[in-house]
Amino acid sequence: MYRTHTCGELNLRHSGNEVTLSGWVQRSRDHGGMTFIDLRDRYGITQLVFDMETNGELCREARKLGREFVIRVEGTVRERSNKNPKMATGDIEIDVRMLWVLNASLLPPFTIEDETDGGEELRMKFRYLDLRRNKMKKNLELRHRMAGEIRKYLDKQSFIEIETPVMIKSTPEGARDFVVPSRMNQGEFYALPQSPQIFKQLLMVAGYDRYFQIVKCFRDEDLRADRQPEFTQVDCEMSFAGQEDVLNTFEGLAKHLFQEIKNIDFNGPFPRITFKDAMDRYGTDKPDIRFRMEITELKEFTRGHNFQVFDDAEYVGAICAENCAGYTRKQIDKLTDFVKRPQIGAKGMVWVKYNEDGTIKSSVDKFYDEAALHKWIGACGARQGDLVLIMAGERIATQEALSELRLEMGRQLDLVMEGDFAPLWVVDFPLFEWDQETGRFYAKHHPFTSPRPEDIALLDSDPASVRANAYDLVINGVEIGGGSVRIHNKDLQGKMFEKLGFTHEQAKEQFGFLMEAFRYGAPPHAGVAFGFDRWVAVFAGSDSIRDVIAFPKNNSGRDLMIDSPSSISHEQLQELRLKIDDTGNDK
Ligand code: ASP
Repeated sequence: MYRTHTCGELNLRHSGNEVTLSGWVQRSRDHGGMTFIDLRDRYGITQLVFDMETNGELCREARKLGREFVIRVEGTVRERSNKNPKMATGDIEIDVRMLWVLNASLLPPFTIEDETDGGEELRMKFRYLDLRRNKMKKNLELRHRMAGEIRKYLDKQSFIEIETPVMIKSTPEGARDFVVPSRMNQGEFYALPQSPQIFKQLLMVAGYDRYFQIVKCFRDEDLRADRQPEFTQVDCEMSFAGQEDVLNTFEGLAKHLFQEIKNIDFNGPFPRITFKDAMDRYGTDKPDIRFRMEITELKEFTRGHNFQVFDDAEYVGAICAENCAGYTRKQIDKLTDFVKRPQIGAKGMVWVKYNEDGTIKSSVDKFYDEAALHKWIGACGARQGDLVLIMAGERIATQEALSELRLEMGRQLDLVMEGDFAPLWVVDFPLFEWDQETGRFYAKHHPFTSPRPEDIALLDSDPASVRANAYDLVINGVEIGGGSVRIHNKDLQGKMFEKLGFTHEQAKEQFGFLMEAFRYGAPPHAGVAFGFDRWVAVFAGSDSIRDVIAFPKNNSGRDLMIDSPSSISHEQLQELRLKIDDTGNDK
């Protein structure tokens, strides 16, 4: 028998018991005649003691054990003289009688500790060692528990989990597809799903009125901390349901998770905010509402003072940082550098200090006298001691820059308490998004999203102002999920494809099967999908979804451990009748 107990469960009640434990050597210490070893497994750490006086040979054996050796021991549980109240097993130790080395280990390239000395690249290359760390273990356990609670909740609500294929045909969700060549159908390719969108809609046509799936999705896009080429969605769809039904059902899911996983009881409804309000008040469609510091539009107060920068700008907006009038020149310069970073791209920043003594100082007081600046201060709700920061330019870009500045001030002023959660729904997204580069409209969500009925008339005359029946769940400034009420009428769907620039033939070629299905009694339906990795990361308090994925890829889409992607053999290429064109490839 390898073990009678795990390394996380023994305590004083087991004193005197004969036990067998197996695990890894976390660390070993010699103290006079004693050798202490911390033995680790998934469940915890137990202290082993080897006594030179009573069993010199065994103690000498123990001293040879290196870090991460796999061992089995037999011994007696006894009370420790030097208790460690921070450890679950801190009251006891094992007086070891027998020791077996099950496997030796090379010295790990980084320490298997909470605060490890290994950089991310190294930890990715030896991910199986990184996963031995407590933090990673806790994250994977959290992920498992969340998946379990999601299944429990949705099952209770009569949702059933149905798997959909992984080798499909391109679905237009906005990103590039990963493709898989077909050997049996030469010259043809499958695409990996960006989401099961079309399949879940077909399941609604098939009558499975409440579907969900915890499912891998694939998008070939540039990676960031919250993006991976393959990621997991909690994908859901409901028939005979509209926006209200979806929001209520899945607010229920979110509350269930908060309750079961975080022990937080949200009794009131989640706030809802329209896309337009979110942009106007927070400069983003995923506002972090754990703190206020809302944006105020100032254009009307800035006109007519010959300050060209503001006069020429489409938009002028400000945030008010409470109690920051004392910011030094250096601090303000740093903030200006922050907003000028290429990722944010602002040209500059104007400030107004409303000092404690009631005086006003500003970087633009050459153009604006005190009375004018008082109007700004009034509009922003600033009080004595506050600092108002202003930016101007093209509307959306400036709002987005203000959003970044707001988040930065939130960080500087410690406005966010650890363990605080602020969920909300963002609703009424625009149906289309104009793309300057290609000069055409794209679906803001995806082409199956229905316009709000009262806006359908605007589809031809003013497409940019058509609102969609689409919604996002946002927690702490992270977009956790999004969905929409779908189009279930083939004519409206046809019109949508037309607006998105598909010819009749293209639409038929790509979505003929969906249009066909819609002719066989498609029920009204709506759905949502949640980014499971992001949700787990937010609950884990982590900024990167890599921390909650067992085997993630790095920012270049590489798995450093198995070294993929990799080239394939000449025979494989030949079988697929593929040729690599390496012109321009400098490898
Ligand atoms: N398929 C959508 C997405 O992946 C979500 C949905 O509309 O249900 O974003």
